Amino acid sequence: MAEQRIPPTPTNFAIWFQYYAGSHNDLRNAIDLLIDHNRPFDSRTNQDLFETYIAPQVSAVVVETSERLQALMGAAKEFLATAIADNHSQMQAINEVADQGKAGVDPKALVAQLMNELARAATRATRLEAGFEEKTRELDVIRDSLTKSEQRALTDTLTGLPNRRALDEFLRKAQTMADWGEPLSVLLLDIDHFKTFNDNFGHGVGDQVLRLMAKVLREKVRPQDLPARYGGEELIAVLPDADLAACTDIAERIRRAIGECTITRRSTGEVLPTITVSIGVAQYRPGEPTADLIERCDRALYLAKGGGRNRVVTENELDRAEAAG
Ligand code: GH3
Ligand code: MG
Ligand code: MG
Repeated sequence: MAEQRIPPTPTNFAIWFQYYAGSHNDLRNAIDLLIDHNRPFDSRTNQDLFETYIAPQVSAVVVETSERLQALMGAAKEFLATAIADNHSQMQAINEVADQGKAGVDPKALVAQLMNELARAATRATRLEAGFEEKTRELDVIRDSLTKSEQRALTDTLTGLPNRRALDEFLRKAQTMADWGEPLSVLLLDIDHFKTFNDNFGHGVGDQVLRLMAKVLREKVRPQDLPARYGGEELIAVLPDADLAACTDIAERIRRAIGECTITRRSTGEVLPTITVSIGVAQYRPGEPTADLIERCDRALYLAKGGGRNRVVTENELDRAEAAG
């Protein structure tokens, strides 16, 4: 990984562990091809490798759970069939006692027989109930593990933010609403000179910074928004029901809050240089693919970098910059 200048992030480790474990042929071929063609392992490529070859394995958990669920359903069906058959035979036994009653058999003997049948029914019912409770507990465990694995599949491990997949899902839903006329905006954030920061203070400290950025982003967006990790050191937020001006306002608040963070090195307490971010903002145009919206954010972000960094640039300035040539 060092040879290819790949940041030692958990997702990258997952990719390269699989690569060397050698059990994942498609992943191996894809990486070998990239190496053969001298393609850089930039954050986009690393993310793509993860999404394509590693993330689907996560859903293996879902498959396994669904197999357990199938087995449990089988057991539950059998269990219900037993309960029904039991009921049937008990009804029959009690009917027989009643028939004997009609035939004038000694009432004392009949009462004893009836009590006997009822006691047997009660014992079996207790056993069935215990079985039922056990199956219910198993179902609870399966439901919890499904919820957790679903959550894991949508969460970025480093920052705890929603990941690309969660972003895509959210954007798709937000787009539908926005096609009905609600405004929808997106901000794309990139840390300034982060490579230098990593080089100077180490990747571990860099990761700590990334987590802090994620925290600020999460705190500054509104409850209905989706903050997510877009790529390596790029974070994104989707703001439903916010026009360009509202989104720019929030972006500006995020930028300022990050600039005001004091970052200290945990091991030594040393105060590290201030981190700044550049942010691109764009508003959804009804009917367009969401990729176009993000692409405008990206271009605005690029303009923010070119303009000196530590700033928010909207797509309006993009139009102006392009008109000016
Ligand atoms: P710019 O201001 O133009 O954005 O400069 P930059 O150095 O931030 O930009 P560039 O895109 O060239 O470099 C991004 C760097 O982000 C490279 C990599 O070291 C770092 N990075 C990407 N993902 C992670 C991560 O998960 N953890 C850490 N610590 N660093 C990361
Ligand atoms: Mg970048
Ligand atoms: Mg950067």
